[in-house]
Amino acid sequence: MNHIFENKETFKGAYVLALNHLFAKKIENATLYERYATLASILDTHLKTDYRSTTEYVEKNNLKKTIYFSMEFLMGRLITSNLMNAGYASVVKEAFKDWGYDLNEIEQTESDAGLGNGGLGRLAACFLDSAASLSLPLYGNSLRYQHGFFVQKIENNKQVEYPDNWLERPFIWEEKKEDEAVEVPFFGYVENIRLIDPVWVRAIPYDVKVVGAQNGVVTHLRLWSTEPSKKYHYQDQAYLNMVKNITDSLYPDDSTEDGKLLRLQQQYLFSAAGIKSAINEHKRLGRDVRSLADYYTFQINDTHPTLIIPELMRVLMDEEGLGYDEAWQIVNKTCAYTNHTILAEALEKWNIKIFRRLLPRIYEIIAEMNKRFIAELVSKGYSQEKIYRMQLIGVNNVRMANICINASFSVNGVAALHTDILKKIELNDFYQLYPEKFNNKTNGITHRRWLLHINPELTSIIDSLLGSKWQKDLSLIKGLEKYANDAKVQSQIKDMKLTKKRILIKRIYEDTGVMLNENAIFDIQIKRLHEYKRQLLNILHIIYLYLRLKKDAEFKKNFHPQNFIFGAKAAPSYHMAKGIIELINAASKVINNDKDTNELLKVVFVENYNVTYAEFLFPAADLSEQISTASKEASGTGNMKFMLNGAVTIGTMDGANVEIVEQAGKENAVIFGMSAEEVTTLYKNNGYKPRKYYDEDKRLRDIFEFIRTLNSNPTHFDFILHNLLNSDYFLVMADFASYVEAQAKANKLYQDAKTWWRMSIMNIANAGFFTSDRTIAQYNEDIWHLTPITF
Ligand SMILES: *Cc1c(COP(=O)(O)O)cnc(C)c1O
Repeated sequence: MNHIFENKETFKGAYVLALNHLFAKKIENATLYERYATLASILDTHLKTDYRSTTEYVEKNNLKKTIYFSMEFLMGRLITSNLMNAGYASVVKEAFKDWGYDLNEIEQTESDAGLGNGGLGRLAACFLDSAASLSLPLYGNSLRYQHGFFVQKIENNKQVEYPDNWLERPFIWEEKKEDEAVEVPFFGYVENIRLIDPVWVRAIPYDVKVVGAQNGVVTHLRLWSTEPSKKYHYQDQAYLNMVKNITDSLYPDDSTEDGKLLRLQQQYLFSAAGIKSAINEHKRLGRDVRSLADYYTFQINDTHPTLIIPELMRVLMDEEGLGYDEAWQIVNKTCAYTNHTILAEALEKWNIKIFRRLLPRIYEIIAEMNKRFIAELVSKGYSQEKIYRMQLIGVNNVRMANICINASFSVNGVAALHTDILKKIELNDFYQLYPEKFNNKTNGITHRRWLLHINPELTSIIDSLLGSKWQKDLSLIKGLEKYANDAKVQSQIKDMKLTKKRILIKRIYEDTGVMLNENAIFDIQIKRLHEYKRQLLNILHIIYLYLRLKKDAEFKKNFHPQNFIFGAKAAPSYHMAKGIIELINAASKVINNDKDTNELLKVVFVENYNVTYAEFLFPAADLSEQISTASKEASGTGNMKFMLNGAVTIGTMDGANVEIVEQAGKENAVIFGMSAEEVTTLYKNNGYKPRKYYDEDKRLRDIFEFIRTLNSNPTHFDFILHNLLNSDYFLVMADFASYVEAQAKANKLYQDAKTWWRMSIMNIANAGFFTSDRTIAQYNEDIWHLTPITF
């Protein structure tokens, strides 16, 4: 079939026409944005054909769907990954080259869709890409936040937050579907199961196309926005504000009661709207609600979408007239839950008073579920104490995770160690009750974005050695292993790194004014700022290095230059995390400006770490910092992106690091610190005395002293130091010595080029397991059982 992306001439013709049509301009007069918008528009329009055939195929063949409910999808930019997946990237690149334009430059004007905070949201985005690429009918369901994750600036060493206006210009990939809007009720009161006088809000879906890799499959991510409802008659300013606020921003501050109410409102909105649209579709296709489980799995990504459970119960009982038991059976066969956290303080709970006021009927249903669950546990002879731990509602709170585990047929963790900890410790009560529900699905990343797109240099090295089949089946990348000791391949990998470092150096210089040494080790820690991720351990070690380099000439002589790069956003209300950002920046100013160590040691904190920045950082890394307190990081996915791009992990035996080491071999990573078991035992025995380390290790005392010189007020960072001395819940002090040793080992290894580049290649070659194609195939095999689309 002849179409506009057929070859560069057909493309050029269509593009010039479209540019004239949209902006009345010739290409040489168009702005970068106009060139971008034209390209995106014609691609999006072109994709409509595949989108329609995918939808028709799924409906005609009555294929089962998975709806992936997630409050976050950290998509980043879409133009390049859509072009690549559609198979048109080279045609477009060639055409632009003829005109003298760079496709990359055009991409830079697309705004980064930051509808997520970090790993959890990025996982959801990778899953969309993998499911579509495996031809599976999986659809995302989330919220269309007017403002995404805040834009971070560093001012006076401190994080300052600015709103992310990502919708300022039209988002070309979305399509508003007015006729699929649904009405969602809040507040009111219940009389005999009926909700009286609720406040109605209209939820309108915007569908963003998701393009499979060269298979003609186009699915979507459905984002719900809010508008005033005609069903509600008191449209005063307060009402209009409420409606607008629901989808105004990602994760509103939940430190106040108002903030909490809004967050719960968001959760109910996208849960209820998602369920409603699935049921509408199910009925439109002539199917009976009793067969819902044969046609849908609702995957609950962390507890934020928990409300789909009582909402589905409500629809089935109150609207469809099913009995409780029958409704419960259906819910139990459709809902599956993914747990993402082991941090007890992060387990989601909702105050009963707030909950009942906002969602009175939903609360009643949860109370009924709770009553029945307790009765079941009583009948099984469970103790009072155990029942209290497991029940769905505590004294003051609704417990979201407990609801999910009780009502879902599958409960999965996101890495082998994480699932193990859930079974043995955190969720052991539930594991004993429902052993058959628990399973592991180790996270993954889409290698299309995180290798093919961001690292064409490495892609072409691998192509030249293995052909291109590995791009479709990443397990074949294992074929690289036999070149691990090959001097020529080693030097190609080294050159690739140098190329990527130079690109990053330029970007960092433009952003921060700091010029990095291209021959140095690029040591990178990029992830959310959280105490358990221990950026603090990293900066303490850097300060140690700095002080040592200044006074130990022998050490200095043997030290290979090292650039330490951080990227991280802290939650706006997370005082300690913001203090650590300030500490890193304050220390970096002193260190970067010291002529004694200048050539050997640099520290950079990049502003506004997001998917776009990540795409520059991962390929340039030599060392991947994965140093969380063992047992605290559920999986991590940044660790996988580094590995796939040839970085060596310096890390603890935590999350998926354990599996990275298992795949690549222990000798190809630098592992340090306490094990998860040791950490658990230490907590249990209650005997941790961090001050002991301070008293016994002069290096720590010198570091603390240095930190007290960083601000004109010597006590400025004392809240961090006091915490380390008196509590140190995340065991920074305990792992310090071991981390220093690991860093010294890594620095030495890098100087042995043969060994280093062998390690690098071994990491790339063994990263096949970490493609999210594998993860999604396993979800489908064990949980979803979807039939692939085969046109
Ligand atoms: C991959 C990724 C993350 C997750 O990083 P972790 O190291 O696994 O916490 C967070 N943010 C962005 C932008 C990412 O691309």
